[in-house]
Amino acid sequence: MFTSFLIKYAEIGVKGKNRYLFEDALVRQIRHVLRRCDGEFKVHKTQGRIYVDALTDFDADETVEALQTVFGISGICPVVVLEDQGFEQLGRDVISYIGKVYMENRGAQEGMSFKVVARRARNNYPLHSMEINAQLGGILLDAFPALRVDVHEPDIYLHVEIREKIYVYSRIIPGPGGMPVGTNGKGMLLLSGGIDSPVAGYMIAKRGVKIDAVYFHAPPYTSERAKRKVMDLAKLVSRYTGPVYLHIINFTDIQLAIYDKCPHDELTIIMRRYMMRIAEQIASETECLGLITGESIGQVASQTMHSLAVTNEVCTLPVYRPLIGMDKQEIVEISEKIGTYETSILPYEDCCTIFVAKHPVTRPNANIIRKHEKHLEGTIENLVEIALQTKETVIVQ
Ligand code: ATP
Ligand code: MG
Repeated sequence: MFTSFLIKYAEIGVKGKNRYLFEDALVRQIRHVLRRCDGEFKVHKTQGRIYVDALTDFDADETVEALQTVFGISGICPVVVLEDQGFEQLGRDVISYIGKVYMENRGAQEGMSFKVVARRARNNYPLHSMEINAQLGGILLDAFPALRVDVHEPDIYLHVEIREKIYVYSRIIPGPGGMPVGTNGKGMLLLSGGIDSPVAGYMIAKRGVKIDAVYFHAPPYTSERAKRKVMDLAKLVSRYTGPVYLHIINFTDIQLAIYDKCPHDELTIIMRRYMMRIAEQIASETECLGLITGESIGQVASQTMHSLAVTNEVCTLPVYRPLIGMDKQEIVEISEKIGTYETSILPYEDCCTIFVAKHPVTRPNANIIRKHEKHLEGTIENLVEIALQTKETVIVQ
């Protein structure tokens, strides 16, 4: 019945020039996600609103699901668009709308309350908003004796907007909120195959940040399937973020060198420092303004306050850790919601776990770590250089 969606977005803090950037990015991202839906759509800004018009047949559920991956959208309203053919016709159309949406589909619901909210955005319409409210209300009560009016807490708000055309809607399906991707710079996500880092990427992207990613693997100790899994995760994240440039770094020789030259209980922390250093280097070459990780205080030995301080020390870019104060269960819930959980729990080895010590340090001392890293001098610079030069970059979408 409806062929359009009115896209609602929170406008707070989106004034002046920012408003256009925000809206343009939103339109761009909406167009992008609609490409994966059946049907053709026109996305346009009209009088400070964004509409999605279906030009062909389309699958409403699929389209709504796609729109729910666009950050910046606070609500998705399926809209019936009517030509202005006089008020009498509008009355008939509104009866038919309420009949189809609320009476046929869900069965007549005794005592269901409604309120008409008319908005006259065009002065030459013969009735004022208040008159439209009152008259359409009366028409609906006559047509559906089971309904009643409640102006304070109605079950249904029936919005009728009089513009060049007339827009009728009553359902607001929640969107993901946040800000459109691309309105807030770009960040480099350290993406592993675990549960946490895809969620971290999602959360930072939700603030409007475009996401690139880096994955460290250690063939032959880690398999092709483990790499495939990370690409799959990047793809799932890209449903929300748009295309992700995924940089794949061969970390094997660096890990072997650390294994060879450094105390084994410090392996993880030293390895994490090299990951951060390399990620930072790629970040600065690709105009990323910060690093993003899935760390959460105390989750594992390498994520105690002491370990995080020692890891952080090697970075000059800000490191964003959106999961820092979250429990595992809260992170799992988000990963289920965004659809990464099933893939994350597939049991493929991670490069961090291959060389991991039985009893890793939980209170590393930065001075000692720095001293032990000196054992790597002379070889590590070259290995880092080679790792950067041989990096493989895939665009995941
Ligand atoms: P995750 O579930 O994201 O893998 P985790 O609980 O396994 O996290 P760690 O393995 O200690 O925790 O990793 C902490 C963070 O470091 C990860 O969230 C991720 O951002 C980054 N990281 C770890 N391993 C890799 C890797 N192989 N490649 C890229 N980033 C990684
Ligand atoms: Mg991990």
